[in-house]
This record gives sequence, C-alpha cells and structure tokens, in this order.
Amino acid sequence: MHRSNTCGELRISDKGKTTILSGWVQRSRDLGGMTFVDLRDRYGITQLVFNMEHNADMCEQARKLGREYVIKVSGVIHERSNKNAKLATGDIEVVAEKLELLNASKTPPFTIDDDTDGGDELRMQYRYLDLRRNTVKEKLILRHKLAIATRAYLDKQEFLEIETPYLIKSTPEGARDFVVPSRMNPGEFYALPQSPQTFKQLLMVSGYDRYFQIVRCFRDEDLRADRQPEFTQIDCEMAFVEQEDILNTFEGLTKHLFQEIRQVTLPTFARMDYATAMEKYGSDKPDIRFGMEFKDLTEKMQGHGFAIFDNAASVLGIVVTGQAEYSRKQIDALTEWVKRPQIGAKGLVYIKYQGEGIVKSSVDKFYSPETLEDICQHIGAKTGDLILVLSGNTDTTRKQLGELRLHMARELNLRNPEVFAPLWVVDFPLLEWNADDNRFFAMHHPFTSPKPEDIHLLENEAGKARANAYDLVINGVEIGGGSIRIHDRALQSQMFDILGFTSEEAQAQFGFLMSAFEYGAPPHGGIAFGFDRLCSMMGGSETIRDYIAFPKNNSGRDVMIDAPAKIDEKQLEELSIKLNVKPS
Ligand code: ASP
Repeated sequence: MHRSNTCGELRISDKGKTTILSGWVQRSRDLGGMTFVDLRDRYGITQLVFNMEHNADMCEQARKLGREYVIKVSGVIHERSNKNAKLATGDIEVVAEKLELLNASKTPPFTIDDDTDGGDELRMQYRYLDLRRNTVKEKLILRHKLAIATRAYLDKQEFLEIETPYLIKSTPEGARDFVVPSRMNPGEFYALPQSPQTFKQLLMVSGYDRYFQIVRCFRDEDLRADRQPEFTQIDCEMAFVEQEDILNTFEGLTKHLFQEIRQVTLPTFARMDYATAMEKYGSDKPDIRFGMEFKDLTEKMQGHGFAIFDNAASVLGIVVTGQAEYSRKQIDALTEWVKRPQIGAKGLVYIKYQGEGIVKSSVDKFYSPETLEDICQHIGAKTGDLILVLSGNTDTTRKQLGELRLHMARELNLRNPEVFAPLWVVDFPLLEWNADDNRFFAMHHPFTSPKPEDIHLLENEAGKARANAYDLVINGVEIGGGSIRIHDRALQSQMFDILGFTSEEAQAQFGFLMSAFEYGAPPHGGIAFGFDRLCSMMGGSETIRDYIAFPKNNSGRDVMIDAPAKIDEKQLEELSIKLNVKPS
C-alpha cells in the first residue's frame, strides 16, 4: 500500500492512529536531533518528524531528502506542540517510523511555492512542475468544478451533451482555419472546427432540440492579448425557441454557476442594444460597474471658433466625478496616454468645474465662462467634477473615449473585482462593411438571422439590418455570444449572396446545411460561452492561460513539448506534401 491517507486529511481527532503517507518533499528543516519534513500532495501538506533518538539511520536518511523527492512514510499521528493555524493539518504531525524513498528529484528550476521565483517562460517550459503549485492547482480545480456544474445544470434542463467531429470542413467564424492534411485523400485537407456551429445546427434538424458540449475550438489568429489558438467553449443550441428563451435559459445557467462556484448572487441581467452601447460607452462590451457614460457635446461646443471641434463629426465628453483637482501633470499624462498609437487621439480637452462660476478649461480661450458653465450643466457635471472631451470622426472618437473611460476607471479604482455586472448586448448589426475587401462580412456568422422586421432591408440597405444576435458581457468582458439562426433555405442563400458567395461557392461550402434545411429544419438558435474566460473571470484572474493546464505562449508555441515542430521527410511524403519554406 502506498498510502492510507492524503497529506491534507489528518486532524487532531486522528491522534494516536498510524498512517501511511506518500508525496513530495516541500521542504525539510534539520534541527540536529530532529528533522522536520513538509510532505505535499494534491490535497495538502503534513509535517513529518524524524527523531535521531528514535531511529538514527532513518533520521540520517531524512536529512538527505532534497526538494521534490518522492517518499513514502509510515508513522504515528501526534498532536503538535507548535500548532500551525495556517495549515489544515496544522494541529498534528506524523512521527515517522519508516521511510522509503520512492524517487529522487533534481532540484527544480524554480521554487514550488505560491510566490515562486520562476519567470513565466521557465514555468511554462516546466509546466508539469508549475502545476504542482497550489495557486495553479486551485485554478484547475475551479475549472473542473465549473465544468461539472455546467454539465449538471444543463442535464437537468434536458440538454444532451453530444460530441461533434474535430476533423471537418471549415466553419466560417471569421478566423483562419488550422488545417490537417489527409493521407488517404492526397492534396485534401480537413479543417479543425473554429466552433461546432454547423454541426449543432444539423443536430437541431435531427431533432435533438437541446444540445450542449464543452468543446475545444481552434482558431489560427494572431494571438492578441489573452487568446489561445485552442480554447474551450460551452457550446449550446436549442430548437423551437426565440431569442427571449435563449437569454432566459443562459441567464439561468450563468446565475447558477456564479452561485455554485463563487457564492455570488447575480442581479437580473441588464440589457442594452448594440447602438446604445456604442453611443454611450464606445464599446460593444461595456463595463457597467461604473457610470461615466458619454455625453454628446457636438452642438454645444461647435461654433465658438475652436477649429478642431468645429471640423469634427462628433465632440464627446465624460464626467469624471470629483476629480476637478486633477493636476497639470496628471492631465498631461492623460493627454500623452490618449495620444499613444494604440489609442490614437490627437489631443485631450478638459473642463474643470470647480464651483458655480469657476470653470477652468484647456480651451477657455474659445469659450466664455458662461458657455463653459452651460456645458457643465448640460453634461450634468457637479462642483468638483472633471470633464474630458475628445473629438473627431464619430466611430473613432467613441472608441477612443471608451478606452479613456476604462483607463480613468482603472486609475480611480472604479472596477471593483468583487462586483459582477452582467449585461446582454442585443440587436447587433447583421453585417459589417469591409472597405479593404469591398464587401460585407457577417458580424456574428453567416447563419445568424436578421431581425424579422429588418428582412426587407436586405434587398437594398443590407448594412442597416439588425440581427437576432446577442452577447453576454460581464464587467466589460465578452463571456459568450450567439444568435437565432436562419432556418430557411431561401433566406440562407440570400445571406450567402450578400456575403459575396456565388451560388456555386455557397453550394460547395455549405450545400450540406442548405440541403438539411430542405428536410424540416425547426426554428433554432444558440450561444457559446468562452469557458476559459468564464473560469478566469470567476477566479479573478487577468489571463485565461492560468486556467489551461498546458497553454501556448503568445507565438502559439507550447514551449514544454516544443510544438509546433518539423516532421520527417517520410511523413511529408506520405501526405504528398512538398514544403516551400523561405529561409527567414
Ligand atoms: N459559434 C458561435 C461562436 O463560436 C456561437 C454561436 O453562435 O452559438 O461564437
């Protein structure tokens, strides 16, 4: 027997019993007559005592144990004289009677501690050691619990978990596909699914009216902030539903998960249409934990001789409550911040409302005190408030001010990590115009249904059509998104046509789906949650990588196994592939 208990299990009530423990040496302290060893496994840490008087040989052996050695110890559970309240097993220790070395270990390249001395790259290279750390382990446990809770909840709601294939033909979710060559079909390739989108829709045609899957998705994107080339979704689809049914069902799931995992009772989810989100927050995923909504100052601030505003399509401002005392230096820093290429604003105008009749502004050359006072009233500023104003092209200004709004909230600690503010963003535009390609792209994906009342726009004003598409946003982070689908072959063809597919191309790529729609497709819709992101949100971490056992780095590499890697000539030959890699 390797163990009778785990290292996290024993308590004072076990005093006097004998036990066998196996685990890793966290550390050992040699106090001459006695050697103390902290033995660690997944469940916790137990203190072992080796006594010179008791058994000198064994004590000698214990003194030689290095960090991360794997040992097995049997002994008797004693009450500690020096109790450690920080440790669940801190009231007891095991006085060793027998020690067996199961495996030695090299000295690990970093300490296996909550606050390790290992840098990111090193920890990823030795991820199997990093995973021994408590803080990392807790995250994987949270992930596991979240998956189990999701399955249990959806099972109760009659959802069936059905697997869909990984070797498929491309699904258009807007990213590049990872492809896999087919040996048996030379010159042909599978694509790895960007999501199981078409399959889950086919399952609806097949009558499995409530489907879900916790599933890996693959997207060959440039790995901007916090993305992974393979990530996990809670992917769901329902038939005979309208948007309202989906929103309610998944509001229910989300609330349940926060309750189960975080013991947080979420409020009823707010709702906002896309147009409002853009107008008030300059983002389709606004963080609504704090206000600072945009105010339109275009009319108020134009016509006073300030050319920059006069020539702008929009002049937009935010009120930063109680910050009229911002110093020159702080304002300069903000100005520099908005001028950085990532934000790209030309400048920043401020108005400090320091009390009735006392208004200071960077543009008071152009505006009389009365006008500035009037602007403050208009924007709803109170004594002591700071107003920040940006101007230019409407979409760009909104985006920039949206970034500034978040920046101010960060500076002023308005984004309380203990508060969760869920929001459904609804009524997304159906299409997005791409000027470079001179064509429309689907904003969500090509299977998304227009709002019935907007279908008439498809003919001549497709760009104005709104979709039955929705995103779930929590604290400014997109947690999930989905849509009601098109289930009518003619409408689906029209969509492909608008997206610039010839009917041959549409047939070649999606013939199977359009054919399925001819055999009694029910009305249906669905949603997918970013599972990794949901984990990181619940765990209060900035990055999804923390919640993935074996993540990839920013260049899509697994530095532990060193992938991707070259393959043998022979393998290439079998796959009928000739490489044409230019020397870099
Ligand atoms: N397949 C979509 C996505 O991955 C989600 C959905 O529409 O259900 O974003």
